[in-house]
Amino acid sequence: MCGIVGFTGAQNAAPILLEGLKKLEYRGYDSAGIAVMDGNSISVNKVTGRIANLCEKTDNGKAVKGGTGIGHTRWATHGAPTSENAHPHLSNDGKFAVVHNGIIENYMSLREKLISEGYHFESETDTEVIVHLIEKYYKGNVREALIKTTNKLRGSYALGVICAENPGTLYAAREASPLILGLGTDENYFASDVTALVAHTRNVIYLEDGEFAELTADSIKIFDCLGAEINKKVVRVMWDVQAAEKGGYEHFMMKEIKEQPAAVKATITPRIKDGKVVFDELDITADKLKNINKILITACGSAYYAGCAGKYALEKLCNIPVSVELASELRYSEPIIDEHTLLIVISQSGETADTIAAMKECKQKGAAVIAVVNVVGSTVAKLADYTVYTWAGPEIAVATTKGYTTQVTVLYLLSIYFADKLGLIKEDYGKYVKSVQSLPRFVQQAIDMNPQIESLAKKYHSSKALFFIGRNTDYAVSLEGALKMKEISYLHSEAYAAGELKHGTIALIEEHQPVIALCCNENIMEKTLSNIVEVKARGAEVLALTFRNNEKIVSVADDLMFIPEIDPIFSGVVEIVPLQLLAYFVAKENGCDIDKPKNLAKSVTVE
Ligand code: GLU
Repeated sequence: MCGIVGFTGAQNAAPILLEGLKKLEYRGYDSAGIAVMDGNSISVNKVTGRIANLCEKTDNGKAVKGGTGIGHTRWATHGAPTSENAHPHLSNDGKFAVVHNGIIENYMSLREKLISEGYHFESETDTEVIVHLIEKYYKGNVREALIKTTNKLRGSYALGVICAENPGTLYAAREASPLILGLGTDENYFASDVTALVAHTRNVIYLEDGEFAELTADSIKIFDCLGAEINKKVVRVMWDVQAAEKGGYEHFMMKEIKEQPAAVKATITPRIKDGKVVFDELDITADKLKNINKILITACGSAYYAGCAGKYALEKLCNIPVSVELASELRYSEPIIDEHTLLIVISQSGETADTIAAMKECKQKGAAVIAVVNVVGSTVAKLADYTVYTWAGPEIAVATTKGYTTQVTVLYLLSIYFADKLGLIKEDYGKYVKSVQSLPRFVQQAIDMNPQIESLAKKYHSSKALFFIGRNTDYAVSLEGALKMKEISYLHSEAYAAGELKHGTIALIEEHQPVIALCCNENIMEKTLSNIVEVKARGAEVLALTFRNNEKIVSVADDLMFIPEIDPIFSGVVEIVPLQLLAYFVAKENGCDIDKPKNLAKSVTVE
């Protein structure tokens, strides 16, 4: 999920690899390493923490000799961020070194088989199976071994490989993880994004899924999955380094909004096997679950709102009362909790101070704790009884997007998983699983079907305040929508349960006051419609979020945003997307620093 680089040529490889890795630092990482070939021997250097540590360890690369090498920054997914788990990983015979970005979903079964065949593992990573598989299949032809190996892998990978028997050659492969080849003069490169290449060359080849490459100092050959050589177009990159970091987007936030279909998919795919929801990381028995009489979700900020969105699915499917509490409140509230409480803690970074404190408090009172976290090896992950990772990948923009949607996705999956264990959803099981499996596609549609949002932002950006209204699941999403808006555009925006308008807020509605009305839940649509009519009668401008064919809402609203039609229990992940886009374009219109809003930090590690 983070960065890989490779170099082959007449220069010393290590300093070039280190420079390349530094260019990839912005992507976030927890450890780093390089492997360099000198003649037929491979030397490996790995560190936890910053690239600076690796520079120090290798005297800025000068202490490592050899002209061909690979480097890696790791964003841990399987196994804590330790130097053993850092890449490159070596084969048992020492002939191969491998770096990998991505996740190998079937690594458990591959690992068990390889161990039974006598291979020895040095790390806890999913990656290590790859290097042992290559050793196993190597009969003198690396390309063949690589094709056989990748045939066994399920999941995502960008791979960089060197082989001590072929000094001077780099091998690469990709599936659902980026990898770009750089064409130099008497030297060649690869990297997971062009940022690491533009200092050396602007001529690149984008490797595509299922393709392999062999690079020497003076040649680049590309092969398809059957090993047949293919011709690929050389592209001239005109991006500057800053644009390259953002994948060509102006801001990380937009890049991350667009990454959501892939992030949600990465979160779902390993948890659905043969049509069943599975959580290898949870060993909660049906008996233990039957003993739970209350689910308590605690978190801060957007993670708290993710809890609010997930609550409906958990309650409806599992028939267990669910309450969602702010961690900063819960920690001082002497909560009534015992061993019949299941606590779900949500934190993108896993380092949120209030969340950690609330979790400790509840744990001490006997609650079982499941953590929903994005950063492997983080404090929350370590303290919890069970950890379910969201596979969002590193999130750079301070305002979360893919962090939130993957958290809500996990809660949806958990609700199906628990309900099934409790024997509650026999008939609808298949339907629910299908709905969740459709989420990545629906998220993509929610991005594609709203090109008008950019111009809507021009209409609404100068408002003094924005009100978001909705009921039930729509209300939960409106909370996050309003937060997104205030975080990055600094507009005063508030979310109200639509039914509460008459109890106070409607006093604030006057001529041209924008009201953003969420109407994606059929069950209470008529009620929200009445609220829309009420605010319109007082002069409000209504921007409604609904389905394209929802005639009643479409005919009454002033402006519209759309999502595809979807079961309201699971709609939150899709419904938030147009609101993220709206917040983004309003902030852009207002000239705000979108990725680094004032006064905010990505991970709130203080109270
Ligand atoms: N899944 C691999 C690991 O945990 C690779 C992570 C990455 O892409 O950085 O080591």
